[in-house]
Amino acid sequence: MQKGNIGVTTENIFPVIKKFLYSDHEIFLREIVSNAVDATQKLRTLASKGELQGEAGDLTVHVSVNKDAGTLTVSDRGIGMTEEEIDKYINQIAFSGANDFLDKYKEDANAIIGHFGLGFYSSFMVSKKVEIITKSWKADSKAVKWSCDGSPEFSIDECDKSDRGTDIVMYIDDDCKDFLEESKIEELLRKYCHFLPVKVAFGKKKDWKDGKQVETEEDNVINETEPLWTKKPSELKDEDYKNFYRDLYPMSDEPLFWIHLNVDYPFNLTGILYFPKVKSNFDLQKNKIQLYCNQVFVTDSVEGIVPDFLTLLHGVIDSPDIPLNVSRSYLQSDSNVKKISTYISKKVSDRLASIFKNDRKDFEAKWDDIKIFIHYGMLSEQDFYDKANKFALLKDTEGKFYTYEEYKTLIKDAQTDKDGNLIYLYANSREDQYSYIEAAQAKGYNVLLMDGQLDTAMVGMFEQKFEKSRFTRVDADVVDRLIVKDDVNKEELPEDKKEILSGVFSTQMPKIDKMEFNVEVQAMGETAAPVIITQSEYMRRMKDMSKIQPGMSFYGEMPDMYNIVLNTEHKLIKDVLAQSETATAELLKPVDAEIKGLTARRDAINQSNKDKKYDEISQESKDELSKCEKDIEEQKSKKKTILADYAKGNKVVHQLIDLALLQNGMLRGEALNNFVKRSIDLI
Ligand code: ADP
Repeated sequence: MQKGNIGVTTENIFPVIKKFLYSDHEIFLREIVSNAVDATQKLRTLASKGELQGEAGDLTVHVSVNKDAGTLTVSDRGIGMTEEEIDKYINQIAFSGANDFLDKYKEDANAIIGHFGLGFYSSFMVSKKVEIITKSWKADSKAVKWSCDGSPEFSIDECDKSDRGTDIVMYIDDDCKDFLEESKIEELLRKYCHFLPVKVAFGKKKDWKDGKQVETEEDNVINETEPLWTKKPSELKDEDYKNFYRDLYPMSDEPLFWIHLNVDYPFNLTGILYFPKVKSNFDLQKNKIQLYCNQVFVTDSVEGIVPDFLTLLHGVIDSPDIPLNVSRSYLQSDSNVKKISTYISKKVSDRLASIFKNDRKDFEAKWDDIKIFIHYGMLSEQDFYDKANKFALLKDTEGKFYTYEEYKTLIKDAQTDKDGNLIYLYANSREDQYSYIEAAQAKGYNVLLMDGQLDTAMVGMFEQKFEKSRFTRVDADVVDRLIVKDDVNKEELPEDKKEILSGVFSTQMPKIDKMEFNVEVQAMGETAAPVIITQSEYMRRMKDMSKIQPGMSFYGEMPDMYNIVLNTEHKLIKDVLAQSETATAELLKPVDAEIKGLTARRDAINQSNKDKKYDEISQESKDELSKCEKDIEEQKSKKKTILADYAKGNKVVHQLIDLALLQNGMLRGEALNNFVKRSIDLI
């Protein structure tokens, strides 16, 4: 019997291990099982070199729980350890055995997992005592038992063990009793050991017999030793990729397509990335790319390794070249990691380009599902934009698809304005903006459908990237002004008539929280709608941006501003104007006369002061002017009241306003109810 101290300089390393080394206690199981797999692979290497005497036999690693004894055991039939090796590899913990082995078997040792530093000692995160019972593969070696109770003291003794290999027996701490639950261990094995290259069994398979679950003879193997990504793409069928996806994300829809990654220079990386069919943002967050290191699960947070926009994809990446136990910021500056990120991004754009080229129909069919990834990529990476702008699509409101180049050619003739700008018209919803789309189409314009989550940002980017181009939503203005072709003004209504018309309508606009209306008058032709609501492109965009960009909340706070455009050529508007004029003529006459007089007076004062500096104008004159202006305001407000009083009872005005609101989905609640009642009355 030997006793000794574990060879670390720190007086007691275990509290450190327990508290700080790994934030996630559960990974101890990965470490212990990986060591077992590692030892097994070393044995295989020896066997293949003819250095092993006797048979390698069944090499399955067994994990078992003994609740009564409070132990969790991992047993392998790998190379085992001699007493000297325990001393070297376990007692002197800074000394990692993998290095020695790698030196000796450089070419064959690729598959060896040796990246987890203090792997074995992580068992103390959950154990009050750990035993190693091991017998080396070497001829005539004696079995030994190493035992340590969590202090830096250990004991080592000869023991009975007939078979080659190692049992790691962990006496689970009282506050970690979870790890004695079968369901917990099974869950962890599935998470971390799902694709280990050596069979790992947890108990026996169970069967239903006479209404009870009974154990069968068969090992309950929890892993797939040759996962799909380790195979050659040429040997695989679509079905294989789909099955593998189902294995990774059991509850998800079939993926749209996939990319098999395989590089060995200048870094090592294999994997399969899937473009998922995304039903909701929740799916995006739930399923993630899994990162492996030689088939050992490491993490599913791949930020920094995979380009940001591709973290939305699903699948696996396996690389021994990604430094694992380092900080995220270090990871991002690591040159290998940068190369990996660039490689993946390029692979993805190549694959998309080839699908587009070889099967455009299929690409179009999947466009709505994949555009979020492509747009995100184009917005965040210039390199990706440069590749993607050849296959990224625009979709119009009729469901037709175009490349950027094709679309430009399509609209060039009809949609270039007088200054030579190409005007791209778009709608966010076919339903909500139906009448505007229809009006634009009737004029020979094409309207794009921009209903994606990133489309606001895309519009901004297009305007920067496309030369002499502007994007305008179909309802940003009345159709005649969407694309200004010439400066010829239509015949305008005289000022006093304009005033009456706007007064009649503006005083009757409903008060809606956070909405403001500005009434305008415009000749739009007899066949156009009598009242059209538009919203300035600029303001709307600022508000849209404020929703996605911090620091723009100022715009978000502002009310939505709409223009109510009255079509002076429409019969109903003409009628309203004529009736309003007649009905209010008597009342307005004195007011108008008053305004006229006051205005003349004001103009005269201004005229006489025209050449004077402000200081030279007499106080008397200043006072008179301001009184004059006040009186004008008063009279104007009187006029407004007269128009309002009249308009209140004009059903046509109300009906026209409500119809325009209704068409834009703004008529709700009481206002909608009033409209329905009034409509019934009118029938
Ligand atoms: P690492 O795996 O990074 O080398 P560990 O602390 O996990 O670090 O293990 C230290 C060494 O102990 C291993 O390199 C290996 O030589 C030896 N070892 C651990 N577990 C086993 C095992 N199950 N069978 C044989 N040797 C083992």
